[in-house]
Amino acid sequence: MNSSFNPDRQHEDVDSKIVAALDRIAQAFRVLLWEKTKQHQLSPIQIQILIYLLYHADDEMTVGHLARHFNLTPATVSDAIKTLVRKSYVERHISGRDRRSAHLHLTDAGAALARTVATWADTVRELLARYDFQERTVVMQFLMRLIEALQRQQLISLTRMCFTCKFLRSQPQSDTQVTFFCELMQKPLQVHSLRLDCPDHESPALEE
Ligand code: SF4
Repeated sequence: MNSSFNPDRQHEDVDSKIVAALDRIAQAFRVLLWEKTKQHQLSPIQIQILIYLLYHADDEMTVGHLARHFNLTPATVSDAIKTLVRKSYVERHISGRDRRSAHLHLTDAGAALARTVATWADTVRELLARYDFQERTVVMQFLMRLIEALQRQQLISLTRMCFTCKFLRSQPQSDTQVTFFCELMQKPLQVHSLRLDCPDHESPALEE
């Protein structure tokens, strides 16, 4: 009776409408990703691994990093990678005796395919461009705050966002205005420049 998906409850409850709306949006994302999987006979996670390998640094290209990024077990990631290796999209480079620390690399064919499938969510981005910049910036910040809260509940994998970084300093300017500063880069960050996946991110937990 109290479900967010009960329309009677939703009518007067903003939070229920946000929950239901995010669920509908997730549905659209699944449809778009599935379209790419059908075109290329790969699973959604295999496509996401190709895109991850295209855009991350060499030292982040291990099964362990992928498992943490996608909140999956190393065994699940290894299974997905086996198919990508068999299809000659990915190569494994094993340094030393530990097979688990093998580094992964895209082959030329894998990089070409990754660039093609990396466009899977462009339809959504094109739709967003129709909205006012300020409106989009508010939504972006709201979603990052929501991700931060979900991460605290361990419902989402660790993210390398400014909001979870030990280098971010924030200074309230008024009831509604906050300014941000990155201590690592030694420069102010405007709201639209806050990062969702920053290679320099460090968790406060690592602070000595
Ligand atoms: S290091 Fe990166 S994640 Fe951390 S505050 Fe600076 S820009 Fe944000």
